[in-house]
Amino acid sequence: MSEIFKGSFTQQEPIPDEAIEAAVAVMRSGRLHRYNTAPGELAETVLLEQEFAAQMGAKYCLAVASGGYALATALRAVGVKPGDRVLTNAFTLAPVPGAIAAVSAVPVFVGVTEALVIDLEDLAAKADQADVLLLSHMRGHLADMEALMAICDAAGVTVIEDCAHTMGAAWKSVASGTQGRVGCYSCQTYKHVNSGEGGLLITDDAEVAARAVILSGSYMMYERHLAGPPKEAFETIRYETPNISGRMDNLRAAILRPQLRDLARQCARWNERYAEIEKGLRDTPGLTVIDRPAEETIVGSSIQFLLQGWDGEAVQQVLSRCLARGVELKWFGSAEPVGFTSRYDSWRYVDAPPMPHSDAVLAGIVDMRVPLTFTLADCALIARIIKAEVGAVYEKM
Ligand SMILES: *Cc1c(COP(=O)(O)O)cnc(C)c1O
Repeated sequence: MSEIFKGSFTQQEPIPDEAIEAAVAVMRSGRLHRYNTAPGELAETVLLEQEFAAQMGAKYCLAVASGGYALATALRAVGVKPGDRVLTNAFTLAPVPGAIAAVSAVPVFVGVTEALVIDLEDLAAKADQADVLLLSHMRGHLADMEALMAICDAAGVTVIEDCAHTMGAAWKSVASGTQGRVGCYSCQTYKHVNSGEGGLLITDDAEVAARAVILSGSYMMYERHLAGPPKEAFETIRYETPNISGRMDNLRAAILRPQLRDLARQCARWNERYAEIEKGLRDTPGLTVIDRPAEETIVGSSIQFLLQGWDGEAVQQVLSRCLARGVELKWFGSAEPVGFTSRYDSWRYVDAPPMPHSDAVLAGIVDMRVPLTFTLADCALIARIIKAEVGAVYEKM
């Protein structure tokens, strides 16, 4: 009898009690809008921004409606205009090119390596084509950030970091999201903190922060952004910047504050699970584990492996055999996007030339979510199932 996994790949942990109580208190007050405060009261949204800025070591923080909204706001705030070209990853999630499209700019895709990070050679070759790189740390994989920043600094390219998968991660102990001009995070249910929807944007640049505050819909109440830049920063910006409403509300902020206080512990729990799965997958013939660089502090909320050089039908067989045993894998190489889209050639609103090397990498990427509701025993079981099914298909190839 072969073992079957019975858990759910989409079930997150409950919202912590402390967060539920804080949310109930906000609802009892009726003051859900961030600028609706009693005399002397600091809104949950403001407190969240102050705390997240301190946690990340950033000067300024703005809480917004979603991660995708944070990305589009960052692009506008650094000055991207309609028709501008913006460098971004060929391997990322749809909201990333979507944010570029939201400001009527044009994505220029940069390739992906076997380590699942942006291809720095390709980046260097294309750096003269745009003034901005929207860098996605897709699936939590960090490129050599020193080398990347050196390339971008030399070419005068402004970096915006998409940290939807790297909240809590670091490169050489530098927090992900603090190396570029702007760092953007998602607080959506499947990321590292969960308020259903939500986003956070950090920066040390007063001008960018001021534009982002006005863009988010501050109705000239920017002085109440205690994690925002000083009043002087708004002097001209407040007249020149449109209001594109996308604020966060106090209810979500209340839910997020206790979760952010617990982030380091949660990241450690993800990493235990990741390590258990990785250990179980090692030495599987035909399967390549992604070795993580020593410089990287990871958050193992998902895991990837490569079936390098496999034909599509064999990969599909692995997926269906695993699914039959309860293990839900995603394949980024699938020609038809199902449930999500992660590769440049799925976004046909962009006129992108073919990238054969990236295509070969993408064709072999298999991905799995690692929710914290999995026990370590679940993780070991899942790895045994994958190992057995990859082995069974590989033997017959
Ligand atoms: C989820 C996600 C986003 C956008 O976040 P939302 O809060 O869903 O808008 C951006 N980039 C990546 C890589 C993501 O996975």
